[in-house]
Amino acid sequence: MLLLMTTLAERFELVRENITLAAGRAGRSPGEVTMVAVSKTHPAESIREAADETGQELFGESRVQEALVKIPALPGRLRWHFIGHLQSNKIRKALPHFELFHGIDTSAIAREMDRIAGEMGLFPRVLLEVNVSGEGSKHGFSPEQLEREMDELLALPRLHVEGFMTMAPLSAEKEHSRPYFARLRELRDHLSDRAGVPLERLSMGMSGDYEIAVEEGATLVRVGSALFGGR
Ligand SMILES: *Cc1c(COP(=O)(O)O)cnc(C)c1O
Repeated sequence: MLLLMTTLAERFELVRENITLAAGRAGRSPGEVTMVAVSKTHPAESIREAADETGQELFGESRVQEALVKIPALPGRLRWHFIGHLQSNKIRKALPHFELFHGIDTSAIAREMDRIAGEMGLFPRVLLEVNVSGEGSKHGFSPEQLEREMDELLALPRLHVEGFMTMAPLSAEKEHSRPYFARLRELRDHLSDRAGVPLERLSMGMSGDYEIAVEEGATLVRVGSALFGGR
């Protein structure tokens, strides 16, 4: 990627433009897609620059400890999503700081978050991570597990389950991601119909494949290196 030749503001503009174009190709409104600027590993100053120069207010972090250093150093108007794998011993610290948790990947974590949220008087918004590809290296529910456990997850009194998140297998070819994104949308449609709840959010697409994800129905894309440069 020719990141060194462009400014941060130009990269944000390009990604936003690509999202708008991808939405258009799918007959969707660009307003249906929210870009989470993934700022993990990048210092608070880069996040401040992005906020000041591009108006971006929503950022994604994947490590609790790192985020809890950066968030208090930045303006309170910024909003934060937790996009990574959450360890149970970090839930209590993380809960007050993030408006959406993308990576709830086991029923045990969901139940633990529900319990702690009850103690803290919070109602966290969450997405369930789905391992659509079945790769052993990936976190997340298998589609079969979700079939079995969805009703129990939706019944947790504190958690607002708003949809699903996935990552496609690493590939140099962005079209390779399409079937995984389509599969997540189909699974969502099925589970949403069955349970009679909207589950409207789909978090899918990263720097290499966010346009494909938008074409396949993503409502949230998690874009890091295409905005901030390599890590
Ligand atoms: C790091 C990360 C991203 C962003 O990846 P890029 O390829 O840099 O855009 C998206 N989602 C998750 C879960 C991540 O950990």
